[in-house]
Amino acid sequence: MIDAERRAALEGIAAEVRVCTRCRLHETRTRAVPGEGDPDTEVVFVGEGPGFNEDRQGRPFVGRAGDLLVRMLDSIGWRRDDVFITNIVKCRPPENRDPEPDEVAACAPYLQRQLEALDPAVVVTLGRHSMGRFMPGARISQAHGTVRPADPATGARDATVFAMYHPAAALRTPAIERESFEDIARIPTVLVDSRTRRAAASTGEDAPAEPTAPIAPTPALEPPAPDTDQLTFFQ
Ligand code: URA
Ligand code: SF4
Repeated sequence: MIDAERRAALEGIAAEVRVCTRCRLHETRTRAVPGEGDPDTEVVFVGEGPGFNEDRQGRPFVGRAGDLLVRMLDSIGWRRDDVFITNIVKCRPPENRDPEPDEVAACAPYLQRQLEALDPAVVVTLGRHSMGRFMPGARISQAHGTVRPADPATGARDATVFAMYHPAAALRTPAIERESFEDIARIPTVLVDSRTRRAAASTGEDAPAEPTAPIAPTPALEPPAPDTDQLTFFQ
């Protein structure tokens, strides 16, 4: 998909989400939250569902959990506009309760279509609900910081899934916050590995070794140079 097509596809999905009535969450929402970010990104972050602030603003991760997510991204030299950020359900569950299985199922086609349009190299799951979609059966205490190939049925046809704790859990528990900073520090390497794997798959592993174009990191998503001050700070 070329840039303009991808942008149009994402905007079309967002327009549908904003007026969606497929599940009961539409009755209590203020604004639906389709997700946002760079349509050309290689990395998609998937949270659980909008909270109070997101519901007011119609944008994902703009409250305290979002501030922490932005700080974590900053620790690897990325900005929120470098990636795409969305959720499993696009409307806020009342009182921030867990989304019900039928609500998750009703909303699933939107995320699937977003992933088909974005074709990310890496999908980062934030929290148990999101992990449940991409790593069925995994336990977050063991799976955080680890990778798994994405099932193409999720819409991400050739992605590496990377699981993280939800930033709200990190806000509640300092040990989880520490582990989350350690986990996110692995993402630039996960991205480079996924790019390499995708490039090999697209040229065919058995193809004669001919010089292929070097995989140029997207400047904004380059692994950051080691920053010793920062490492000390987050230890
Ligand atoms: N928590 C989420 O899971 N998603 C948001 O967008 C905000 C908070
Ligand atoms: Fe539609 Fe998803 Fe909102 Fe339910 S949560 S009303 S399926 S956009």
